[in-house]
Amino acid sequence: MLSIIVPCYNEEDSIPLFFEEVEKVSAQIKQDIEYIFINDGSKDQTLNTLRKLYKKHPEKVRYLSFSRNFGKEAGLYAGLKEARGSLITVMDVDLQDPPELLPQMIQMLEANKDLDCIGTRRGDREGEPAIRSFFARMFYKLVNKIGETEMVDGARDFRLMTRQMVDAILELTEYNRFSKGIFSWVGFNTEYLSYENRERVAGATSWSFWSLLSYSIDGIVNFSEAPLNLASYVGAFSCMGSVIAMLVIFFRTIIKGDPTSGWPSMVCIILFVGGLQLLCLGIIGKYIGKIFMETKKRPIYLVKETEKDQQQ
Ligand code: UDP
Ligand code: MG
Repeated sequence: MLSIIVPCYNEEDSIPLFFEEVEKVSAQIKQDIEYIFINDGSKDQTLNTLRKLYKKHPEKVRYLSFSRNFGKEAGLYAGLKEARGSLITVMDVDLQDPPELLPQMIQMLEANKDLDCIGTRRGDREGEPAIRSFFARMFYKLVNKIGETEMVDGARDFRLMTRQMVDAILELTEYNRFSKGIFSWVGFNTEYLSYENRERVAGATSWSFWSLLSYSIDGIVNFSEAPLNLASYVGAFSCMGSVIAMLVIFFRTIIKGDPTSGWPSMVCIILFVGGLQLLCLGIIGKYIGKIFMETKKRPIYLVKETEKDQQQ
């Protein structure tokens, strides 16, 4: 069986279109298909749309509805946990992940027994604002340089995985989930398929510039200790610098006397060092925040309704 996991947040218009498109290609897929939609606390009619879809196709549609918005990462985790298939795929509902690729991905995975996962990546970043592409590229450069886990530029969450790989992913029960890192951290052999970027069919993206920025910071902090090390390097460096400056000032005062000048430079140094300290505290705080959330051991998501509630 093939499980298709679809996280949905305010996607009432996209869901029927998505279902129709995937059904079209399902003829080329010999596995039975189970759809697992996750309603991630949508504020529109997403849940009703899913209820209706289930009523129409109870044999292949399942859904989970969260008690509130937990984020796409939580939705993915819930879907992977519910999936019963021996092949599992994760797709966005906005058709930015082309379903036409599915038969080819299944073929690739079955043709080579050494592969555990077929990933997809966008061949280009066309249709995206230039500034967003620029920051995205910078992020991948940075995270691959300082992190121990490799993240592929342009890789989407759309991927086909074997049962074995999904079981491995489910063993990572951390609260702060960054899927791009987790997919790569568990290892296994992944091959990437490129395709051209496309626009979403309906609705609007839920990502703003700031949410993307905070997402990238999570990506770095969750998979790398480099910022913490950086804080100590910067501290050591500025400490050495201040010792040298102290010696210079000391001998200059002895040789030339003290004409009580140099207030501007003093203020500059105080501001600079104060800024460094705040930066380092901020970095440490970020990690402590993550530890705080992890130690609470809260569930990653809470379910309010599933398709089983409709059966009674
Ligand atoms: N999504 C979700 N929870 C959220 C935000 C998004 O489940 O809090 C889903 C959304 O419905 C879509 C997928 O995640 O199926 C990707 O979202 P989006 O298209 O907004 O991201 P983009 O493609 O712009 O990166
Ligand atoms: Mg999208």
